[in-house]
Amino acid sequence: MSPAPADDSSVELLAVLREDIGRDGPMPVERFMRLCLADPVHGYWARPGTIGAAGDFVTAPEISQVFGELLGLWCAVVWQGMGQPSPLRLVELGPGRGTLMRDALRAAERVPGFLYALSVHLVETSEPMREKQRGLLPPPLTPPHKGEGDRPPIAWHPTVHEVPDGAAIVIANEFLDALPIRQLVFGEDGWRERMVELDAAGALRFAIGDKAAHARATPASPVGAILELRAGEDEVLAELGRRTGPCVALFIDYGPAEPAYGDTLQAVRRHAYVDPLATPGAADLTAHVQFAALADKARRAGLAADGPITQAEFLGALGIAERTSRLMAANPERAGAIETATQRLVSPTGMGSLFKVLAVRSPHLPPPPPFG
Ligand code: SAH
Repeated sequence: MSPAPADDSSVELLAVLREDIGRDGPMPVERFMRLCLADPVHGYWARPGTIGAAGDFVTAPEISQVFGELLGLWCAVVWQGMGQPSPLRLVELGPGRGTLMRDALRAAERVPGFLYALSVHLVETSEPMREKQRGLLPPPLTPPHKGEGDRPPIAWHPTVHEVPDGAAIVIANEFLDALPIRQLVFGEDGWRERMVELDAAGALRFAIGDKAAHARATPASPVGAILELRAGEDEVLAELGRRTGPCVALFIDYGPAEPAYGDTLQAVRRHAYVDPLATPGAADLTAHVQFAALADKARRAGLAADGPITQAEFLGALGIAERTSRLMAANPERAGAIETATQRLVSPTGMGSLFKVLAVRSPHLPPPPPFG
């Protein structure tokens, strides 16, 4: 049984979940995750203050400004490799507080013509996050004004589908892990859907549901194996494949490079792991990105995929050591903290190896650096 919910918002979402399960029976993990994260009133992304030291978790751009700066320069180099199209849609999926985009735009300012070519498109469903982004990014000029160098126009969209066509560079850091997953459990008689149900006392618990047809089932799958499937990835990649104009996308997230079974559903609250069923709506709920599957999905959508490589390899090739040294020299009073933050991003036993980077592109384009 899960411990009692810890605050009002999880009590309210628990009531929603109980009503739903009472009405329709046990719900698939995917529906549970979707309600916990995206319920418009009680869901996790409707809460303010989720990212950051005072919130539940921190991400790479919140750890070091160097992360966003290197990505900004990477975007500018990719744009040059595309033949400097204008306009260029610079798209970020799940921009969080907007820190990555702010740092990226500041660093890319030095590349002649790049900011002038840009229109920025932020794909974000959370209203509190949009508010943070509006506060952090330079205020957009009123359309149809094209922007003046350091102030590219910025637009917000609920999904990538609404981003206008044309040449695009897409960045997604810790976005895919937030999209709901199904979990299938392999039993004696094949794959079954993993569900969430209520016990006699009304507490949430996991259960095994109906048989699930699944193409990747093999007789060799061990009994008890858990397979995680994320339909949201297929939708994003299909959208990218459907776009007109050249497109390069970079997905940075945690998860294995090779196909892997296992339950990776995790909940994080105030920087600690908690039971995913304990505080619904009040904890960040995520699951690993399966990079081998993601690359396959990209290819099926008519795109080419490069990688994955580890975050340490990616940032190393982009020159994180040099950039960090320069930043330390320019800010001697913060040198220790700057160095520690970079080490955290590239740590071989932490983020540096757990996080992977996969590039996806229109097949006629060359692989972007450092893949090419
Ligand atoms: N990229 C940021 C934030 C990662 S947290 C960073 O690195 O700090 C996940 C982000 O995705 C949040 O901004 C969240 O509001 C957003 N998000 C979650 N589900 C989404 C969805 N279905 N569509 C668009 N944005 C989503």
